[in-house]
Amino acid sequence: MANTETPKGFGLAIDFGAVAPAPDPAVATTTSTAPTEAKLLILGSGPAGLTAAIYAARAGLAPIVIGGYAPGGQLMLTSEVENFPGFPDGIDGPELMAKMRAQAERFGSIMVDQDVDRVDLSAQPHRVWSAGREFRAEAIIVATGASALWLGLESETRLRGRGVSACATCDGFFFKGQEVVVVGGGDTALEEALFLTRFATKVHLVHRRETFRASKIMISRVEAHPLIQLHMNREVIEVLGEKSTEAVMLRDTTPGATGAPERLATGGLFVAIGHKPNTALLGGALPVDAAGYLQLESDTTASQIDGVFIAGDVHDHRYRQAVTAAGDGCRAALDAERWLAERDASGS
Ligand SMILES: Cc1cc2nc3c(=O)[nH]c(=O)nc-3n(C[C@H](O)[C@H](O)[C@H](O)COP(=O)(O)OP(=O)(O)OC[C@H]3O[C@@H](n4cnc5c(N)ncnc54)[C@H](O)[C@@H]3O)c2cc1C
Repeated sequence: MANTETPKGFGLAIDFGAVAPAPDPAVATTTSTAPTEAKLLILGSGPAGLTAAIYAARAGLAPIVIGGYAPGGQLMLTSEVENFPGFPDGIDGPELMAKMRAQAERFGSIMVDQDVDRVDLSAQPHRVWSAGREFRAEAIIVATGASALWLGLESETRLRGRGVSACATCDGFFFKGQEVVVVGGGDTALEEALFLTRFATKVHLVHRRETFRASKIMISRVEAHPLIQLHMNREVIEVLGEKSTEAVMLRDTTPGATGAPERLATGGLFVAIGHKPNTALLGGALPVDAAGYLQLESDTTASQIDGVFIAGDVHDHRYRQAVTAAGDGCRAALDAERWLAERDASGS
């Protein structure tokens, strides 16, 4: 994300026409006319889901990708991506996702841009409901990602990708020589603050409470760091700037405080208040860990349920990168392909 650039294609709809080759009419299918049965269903159309689709489609499985009403996933929320291999000059997030989609469609993936409402994974074929229609498949890859939590401010939404980010690993590099603000009080926020000291001249860590809920070791590292300034009992109530982020307004959250909000100049705001894995559609069918992420059963992408595989940020809270999600999508497609082949060979 370049702080001063207007993100191209920013928003929830993808302008596929700009970068995607014209789809082959033999394989292009609109959401309403898409078939409802396939060997493999892929839930999610971020880097994990679309990479799985590329592999599965090239293996002749003609997967149906039910990719959500916000197709493309989290990279639709950022402008420049500089760490995805193969793009030495960087690439806009939406453009990268449009290319992945075009690649998946080229080999026969079928795209359905709707949310999955619920699933029944208790018997074969597995069943999935989306916008009133029932889809069936022997194998399913769950790649529904995890959504970053935001503060919920109008100005924050407007300036996303223009200085406002939820990923320091992804966007920290763009803030070389600037002062930045990190919001949050857990381990992730403190880690992001420490990481950003590699680029920023100063990191302002804003937390609305008196104490952090992070681990002691992280707290002592942050407190000892000469480039980190703590703003305890403060919350961001507005992000200022027209085309890019220029400052944030901080409110004192101390009970009884009556002072006027303070302006803090900054080129970047990193919101690090957590992620929510998108698992509600599963209705508890698969086990989750304490933070709500899906759990893998082994060193493959297999879940606890036969024929159901998991890929990307919906289970991974350690790496959370496009390239790791894409790698996971590849693994899940290969696992699903092998599982289907074994099933066919055994005649089940
Ligand atoms: C602001 C920002 C900037 C980032 N910048 C970078 C970067 O520069 N480089 C990098 O490597 N990573 C970056 N990341 C991280 C990267 O975007 C994620 O790690 C990656 O997108 C995860 O891929 P995924 O496919 O697992 O999930 P996601 O990208 O989250 O995709 C999930 C998909 O599931 C769909 N979905 C959700 N619920 C349902 C449902 N009920 N039914 C059907 N579909 C559903 C969504 O619509 C979406 O298509 C950034 C993240 C953010 C938030």
